[in-house]
Amino acid sequence: MTSQSEGCFDSSEMGVFQRVERLGRAKQHNLEMVAFIGEQLDREEYNFDGFFNPRVQKLYERMGRCASWLTFRHYTEHNKNRLTSANFCGRHLLCQACAIRRGAQKLQAYTTRVEYVLKESPKLKPWLITLTVKNGDDLLERFDHLMTNFKRMQKQRSKRLQGASRYLPTEFEKIDGAVFSYEVPKSKDGERWHPHIHMLALCSEKPDAGFVDPKTGEGHGLCKEWFDLTGDSFMIDVRSNPEQPVIEMAMEVMKYAVKFTSQSPADTWKAFQVLNGRRLFGSFGSLHGVKLPKSLLEAPLTGPFIEYVFKYHSGGNYEKVSVIDHSDIYDLPSDMGTPDTVIKKTPVFRYVPVTKKASVFRYAPITKKTPVFRYVHHGYCHH
Ligand SMILES: [Zn+2]
Repeated sequence: MTSQSEGCFDSSEMGVFQRVERLGRAKQHNLEMVAFIGEQLDREEYNFDGFFNPRVQKLYERMGRCASWLTFRHYTEHNKNRLTSANFCGRHLLCQACAIRRGAQKLQAYTTRVEYVLKESPKLKPWLITLTVKNGDDLLERFDHLMTNFKRMQKQRSKRLQGASRYLPTEFEKIDGAVFSYEVPKSKDGERWHPHIHMLALCSEKPDAGFVDPKTGEGHGLCKEWFDLTGDSFMIDVRSNPEQPVIEMAMEVMKYAVKFTSQSPADTWKAFQVLNGRRLFGSFGSLHGVKLPKSLLEAPLTGPFIEYVFKYHSGGNYEKVSVIDHSDIYDLPSDMGTPDTVIKKTPVFRYVPVTKKASVFRYAPITKKTPVFRYVHHGYCHH
């Protein structure tokens, strides 16, 4: 099983421990990243009149606390595990623990949809398509280049399918629906950025990868289309394996945007500063509109359960701090089951960037160009 399949572990009681072990390794990586951010905070460019960049400071604290404890429930009647409570930071571009959870949710939601569409339309087949752009030093420029041209191709597809004949035909017209994600690793030599798109596409006919001669621009198929759009890139891959289960194909698409373990914390931090706030995941056609849960936790089930609470200890290990068998108290009448809830109103303040386009740069070092943040009263939240 690949590192992607957090949600598909063995659902027996042992499965809880496997999941905890895996989150332990992720938490260890999270702490390496936290240490790196801490070092950055000490650097002059993150200081502003003697104060730390407040956003980075807050991020540092929040990430440090992420997944410091976990509560799992094992539902004995269903024989299923649920991660019902934990303190996640939600920064899945920086934090491996959160990336694991997010990946598992996407995988579950989209595999269900893909299987449903394939059942409804048996003529469709799943294909894995990879679109890349030429490596480059400037991540923002390379990412924009990839995204802009991918969007153009999607637009071309939808216009053609609506019958707009002034748009050029595209291989994308063969796609009934697709789910895709951006991946932004460093190239193999670690020198340059290598952003690319992984896509799981449901097609009635195989999209033609084709080829192109970059010198003359002669060719056909997706390679030729992609080269004409980008002007510098033609590396395309289209493949399918009828033996491969859909869930495994989906895993290749739902990989993390960032290759945490194979790149330095400095590169991960750089990618976060450039890509934070951007959508690195999407879908179109018959796979559009799948709703992902907002929380990284799993919804509890009904019925008797055993609750395990784990606290992060050190060195990638969690310590089991309590195990409570809730099987016997489950049959309590419902009016005895819930304590009175006290709702307290606390004012919430958020940093709001003064300029509109600033959100991407909020975590960058403070320089003359960096916008200054101010506190803005932002309503109330219930505690
Ligand atoms: Zn986290």
